[in-house]
Amino acid sequence: SAALEVRDLTKIYRIKGSTPDKEALKGINLDVPRGSFFGLLGPNGAGKSTLINIIAGLVNKTSGTVSICGYDTDASMRAARSAIGVVPQELNLDAFFTPREVMEFQAGLYGVPKSRRRTDEILTAMGLDDKADVYARTLSGGMRRRLLVAKAMVHNPQVLILDEPTAGVDIELRQQLWEYIKDLNDTGTTVILTTHYLEEAEELCDTIAIINHGEVVACEPTETLLGKL
Ligand code: ADP
Ligand code: ADP
Repeated sequence: SAALEVRDLTKIYRIKGSTPDKEALKGINLDVPRGSFFGLLGPNGAGKSTLINIIAGLVNKTSGTVSICGYDTDASMRAARSAIGVVPQELNLDAFFTPREVMEFQAGLYGVPKSRRRTDEILTAMGLDDKADVYARTLSGGMRRRLLVAKAMVHNPQVLILDEPTAGVDIELRQQLWEYIKDLNDTGTTVILTTHYLEEAEELCDTIAIINHGEVVACEPTETLLGKL
């Protein structure tokens, strides 16, 4: 089965009062093969976060289907959820927890047995081994991002989804974060990220889907797509 299969997905935000309803997704179809590094590229307001949040189970869809590693998110929600790790856009971390505590708490949420936890290994892979026991509030922005990636990897998901991972991150840290995410992809994790930076999609992704006004307007191998721009 594919890492991700999206069929005829729509989302209408119903807004109270006189504001008209917002049709954020207008029938999205996507197929992401396993092992792929897949980019969802589009301008602000295109519907990227809505799509990611539906896949992650954080927002309800209006119609259509989503399958993750063959698990339908309606029929097999638990299995679908355990197959993905999600890195949100916001740097929402508790200031007074350490990276180790964040990892252990998340592992508990996912019911990962103590004997199976790889906290040290993941923190090391994200370059945070020497920060495992300091308070999150003392971490730099780049370190916090990496901790959020580490947290999303706690249950060893097959698919990692990142929403605008380098928004507001300076060039140097962006490059560094890219290297960490590439390593995860190289070791077999399917990676799906949203971005509004073409250069980011170009640098990282083997396939790019362009989203605009709630529709997929192109979906091609990166080289093919760039040849047309
Ligand atoms: P992107 O991530 O590509 O910037 P979003 O998915 O955040 O796009 O937004 C797509 C559209 O849906 C935008 O017009 C946005 O204003 C609207 N939207 C997003 N979230 C909500 C919400 N909770 N209620 C109403 N409209 C929303
Ligand atoms: P096996 O050794 O049986 O092939 P793994 O040890 O890779 O399997 O993973 C088995 C289970 O342990 C996974 O389903 C996952 O939920 C959990 N797991 C694996 N790695 C981690 C980790 N780093 N942190 C927490 N849980 C993990």
